[in-house]
This record gives sequence, C-alpha cells and structure tokens, in this order.
Amino acid sequence: MAQVIDTDQLFARAKEIIPGGVSSPVRAFGSVGGTPVFVGEAHGAQVFDVNGVGYVDLVCSWGPALLGHAHPGVVEAVREAAKRGLSFGAPTRAEVELAELIRGRVPMAQQVRFVSTGTEATMTAIRLARGATGRDKIVKFAGCYHGHSDALLAAAGSGVATQGLPGSAGVTAAAAADTIVVEYNDAEALARVFKEAGEQIACVITESVPANMGVVPPAEGFNAELRRLTREHGALLIVDEVLTGFRVGPGGWLGIEEGTDPDLVTFGKVVGGGMPLAALAGRAEIMQLLAPVGPVYQAGTLSGNPLATAAGIATLTLADADVYAHVDRVSAEVQAAVTDALTAASVPHVVQAAGNLFSVFFRDEPVRNYEDAKAQDTDAFRRFFHAMLDQHVSLPPSAFEAWFLSSAHDEAALARIVDALPRAARAAAEG
Ligand code: PMP
Repeated sequence: MAQVIDTDQLFARAKEIIPGGVSSPVRAFGSVGGTPVFVGEAHGAQVFDVNGVGYVDLVCSWGPALLGHAHPGVVEAVREAAKRGLSFGAPTRAEVELAELIRGRVPMAQQVRFVSTGTEATMTAIRLARGATGRDKIVKFAGCYHGHSDALLAAAGSGVATQGLPGSAGVTAAAAADTIVVEYNDAEALARVFKEAGEQIACVITESVPANMGVVPPAEGFNAELRRLTREHGALLIVDEVLTGFRVGPGGWLGIEEGTDPDLVTFGKVVGGGMPLAALAGRAEIMQLLAPVGPVYQAGTLSGNPLATAAGIATLTLADADVYAHVDRVSAEVQAAVTDALTAASVPHVVQAAGNLFSVFFRDEPVRNYEDAKAQDTDAFRRFFHAMLDQHVSLPPSAFEAWFLSSAHDEAALARIVDALPRAARAAAEG
C-alpha cells in the first residue's frame, strides 16, 4: 500500500521553500485556517488530494473548469498539440481559430490579442485605453479585482470617490495616483468623478458582474450607465469578463445583459480551458493601436501558446447549449439547497446570483458594494467551510469568492453537497 502523506508536514515543508507555501495567496487558507488540500489529481467534479481522498469541488480552479476537470476532449487536444511542439514563438493557425471562435460568441470582440494571464489582459487594456485617449487617469470600483498590476491594485479607502492609494506594499504612490476608486453600484458618484476630472479619464474598468468580493450583481441599468457616462466624456469602457466570460453563458455576461457595449473586453479562465491563456479584445480601431500595427507596446514569449490555444479551442467547442443549461440547473439547485440549510439552522445569509454565478454572504441584508460585503460574519463562514471540507466538499476558502460548478457536477456530486449542508449550517450557527 502507498504510504500516507502527512499533509501538515507537506505544508510545513512548502512554507519553508515557498512564501506561505503557495503560488497564489488565497490557496493558503489564510482566512479559514488549517492545512490546504494538496491536490494530486482532479477528474470531473472532484479533486483528489495527494492521498487519493476525493472532494466534490466547488472551486473548479477558480473558474476555468467549466467542463469539469481533465475533460477527455480537452486533455486529448492538449496531448495532440504537445506532440507537435510546446512553444514556437511564431504565429499559429490555432490562434486564428480561437480568436474567430471568440468573435463568433462575442461580436464586439472584433480583434483579439492573446496573453497568458488575466492580469496581463487588464494591464494591457489599461495601457491601450491610455494610448488611445492620451489621458492618464483610470476609474475602477472598490472590491473589483482585475489582477495584480500596480495601477489596478489600488483599493478604496471608505468614502464615495477616493483617490487611489497603493493597495499593496511595493506599489508606488505615483503608480496608484492616477487610479480613481469609486464605490460599486454608485452611478452618481461616478458622474461626480467625471464632472470633476472627465477630461483626464482614459477609461472605466469594471467586472461585468463583480465576483471577487462575492457576487454583487450590477444594479439594473448600472452597466448601461457606465457606457453612457464614458461615451459622454470621451473615455473608454473596459469590461473585465475574465471570470464571467464563456462561463455564465456562451457569450459571457455581455451575451446576457444588453446595453453595455464596451470598447474593450478581457477574457481569461474558461477561454484557456485550464491552461495559461487570457485575451483582450474589442473594437478593431482601438485594437489596431497595439504593436506591431500601432504605438502601444505589448508582447509575450509564451503568448498564444499552442497547448493553451488547443485547450481553449476544445473547451469552447465542447461548451454547447447543453453545457450551459446543465451548469445553470445545478447552480440553481445548489443555491436552493444552501438557502434551505442555512434557513433551517437560522443562520443569517443572503445568496446572490448573476446567471449561474453565485456566492453566499453570511449576513441578512443584500450586498450592493464592497462595504456591504465586508460587513458579514466571516467566522460563521469559516465554521461552515470546515464542516463542508470535513464532509469532503471543497468550497472556495474565503467568504469573498464565488462558488463554481461545471457540466461534470452530476446527481451524485449534487447529492454529496446537499447531504453535507445541514451539518455545515449547524456549525455556522454555533458561534
Ligand atoms: N479579472 C478578474 C475579474 C478575475 O477574477 C481575475 C482572477 N481571479 C483576474 C482578472 C486576474 O486573472 P489572473 O489570475 O489570470 O491574472
């Protein structure tokens, strides 16, 4: 029999050699405590730890695994691509095909540039907006996450319109000074910002549906108002669909909510099918400002990597109407089951959804912005999280993250989630 690996020891070893033991902070279980699940492999709706123990997975690699883990069609496409070479640093036909698939689903994506991470996609979109307008300032919303580039890490202090402060050590005041942070869902605050500084604002960047402070749906007409205000003041609108793109529906959130009509859009996660691939896309006249055609520089050794493009093509090809219908249905079922269990245990909560994307806030008032999101009982979440994990259901290890489902979440996976919920709800109640 294989020797059982002590994951507490493995975590200690990891922390010796890797800061926090992880390659990305939230994986360290900082806000829930304990030892993270060290994953050995993942198939369908389950991740298996290094000892082969299976967990029903509601993280789905933070979004990419729309088809479940290791979908045979995606794995085969990557295997075939790998046989032909791992990286060329030259144009490929697959890039053209993937770009055309994207435009077929999102018509405003007239031209597409591939990068490797969502961070690069939004960072480049900002540079492009500044290059296109000749203006310096950008507007982002408190609680929206667009990756870890300096200007976009600026976070709000409280208040309606706050001049950007560095959101991390190591970000200079200068790098953040041109970032204006506005409370989410507050169109009036944005209008005031435009009134004061409209001629200096290059762009507004927003998540199509914020999902990095938990899921906070845009108020009716909010995204359309962003479009109206930016247009009125000659600024660009960048919609970040890294998380929602090709997940909430075939055309992402832009395919569901009409009237946003952004200039630029960013994709990541599902578009790479689990491989490092992301993209920015948008109106051709703006995209044409990118090098080598235009003056805005951007490049990448591994950009458009052949394995990643193969995974993206396979994923978008396999993600048909049945896949989205299934994810919508299982998402609705999990939302209902969570609501029932928390209600039965008298735990204050609100489940917020936009399409199949949802999260659970441990407070009883609706969450409209980051301030609301922070006013939840994160201790209750921590107890809930660990009770689910003890029953082999893996939730995102933070109260501020969306839960993710896939087309591989079948009746058996649903049953395991539903069975685990009452005990977890009671644990949440026992403060
Ligand atoms: N934008 C959004 C909306 C995201 O959710 C994320 C990552 N969670 C990013 C950008 C950054 O993407 P990446 O982690 O690939 O850099």
